[in-house]
Amino acid sequence: MSFLRKSDAVFVRGLFKRYYDERAGELFIPERLPEREFGYFPFGEKIMIRHLSFSSPEELKELASQKVPLHIYHSAAFYKYPRAPMEEKGWIGAELIFDIDADHLKTPCKKDHDFKICKNCLLEYPVELDRCTKCGRPLEKVEWVCEKCLESAREEARKLLDILERDFGFEKIHMAFSGNRGYHVVVKDQQVLDLDQSERKEIVDYITGTGLDAKFLGLEKRKINLDYVPDLGDPGWRGRIARSTLEILMTFDAEKLYELTDDEKAYQVIEELESVKESWSEKLPWNLIKPSTRRFLVEAAKEHAASHVDVVVTQDIHRLLRLGNSLNGKTGLMAKVFEPDDLDDFDPTTDPVALPMDEEIHVKIIRSHELQLAGFELPPIKKKIVKLPLAAAALLLCRGVATLP
Ligand SMILES: [Zn+2]
Ligand SMILES: [Zn+2]
Repeated sequence: MSFLRKSDAVFVRGLFKRYYDERAGELFIPERLPEREFGYFPFGEKIMIRHLSFSSPEELKELASQKVPLHIYHSAAFYKYPRAPMEEKGWIGAELIFDIDADHLKTPCKKDHDFKICKNCLLEYPVELDRCTKCGRPLEKVEWVCEKCLESAREEARKLLDILERDFGFEKIHMAFSGNRGYHVVVKDQQVLDLDQSERKEIVDYITGTGLDAKFLGLEKRKINLDYVPDLGDPGWRGRIARSTLEILMTFDAEKLYELTDDEKAYQVIEELESVKESWSEKLPWNLIKPSTRRFLVEAAKEHAASHVDVVVTQDIHRLLRLGNSLNGKTGLMAKVFEPDDLDDFDPTTDPVALPMDEEIHVKIIRSHELQLAGFELPPIKKKIVKLPLAAAALLLCRGVATLP
């Protein structure tokens, strides 16, 4: 979903222009800038202009303030000839990138907050309908982002950082908010740069726990040797499975376990575990749990502890990544760069707000759920003209749920 009217896009472009004129100095300049490919979407066009490169940060800043991109990206890869067609670029290496997007996560709130809009009649519809009942034209889907979406994305990023730092020992990790509903993580350590596609796939498999099975953890047979089963302090996935199982054991109710596993067996397992709960002291009571339940628990613990990254992004050695501290055209928010250590304190409703909050404008809202932005709060609204801070107005215009009156 994008702008409802051309005039909305023109207005938001003006705000983006102001940002890039005044604050282009804040744009994140990736290392080895001249070896990267850049691409951008202009306002109002569906085709990306790519195969660009810049020899200096000044050239990049100039493009931002002259062309005013709706979205701007750069390659995670380094090329001999970044401006050449793909097959002639001369790939040198690429950073290892991860994309976490709430859209790919099993957030149950989706069904509560997504809806559709007829751009022609400016009417809103439930997500099940495909065509406008008034004019018959196809409807466009609005994917809302709520606090729960943002929190689940943060949790996935937290798990990812833990695996990258503790299991792989990576040290040069760069992090950014996507400007919408996710996070980007970039590993810049020297030893990842020349990994090929299949090697990157192996890393993704490790992070997502793909192929991990109860039988590799000594938990499959009826009689198990307690000296060889996963324990809380074990390194890598063994410890992760143990800690995750403990968390399920101590804090999950049947509903939550069902949500995690999508399996009716969850209800029976929670009942079964009631009696076991009291018996664990230092080691997990694996021996008191039936083999079939253990297998179920390992799967659940894996699902709970794995980081649900976008598998395709990490494997793609030519992938383009949103430029840090540039504006995301789906929201008008900044793809804010921050330190991995600050993930817990990062406030996605305030820190990426880049457009003015101290000027206001009237917009006609077709439909908006509750919205929080840098201390400003908007209650749920349908069909109403309201006066909003520019940053909030821009967000609703970008999302295609409001228009200039
Ligand atoms: Zn219509
Ligand atoms: Zn949500």
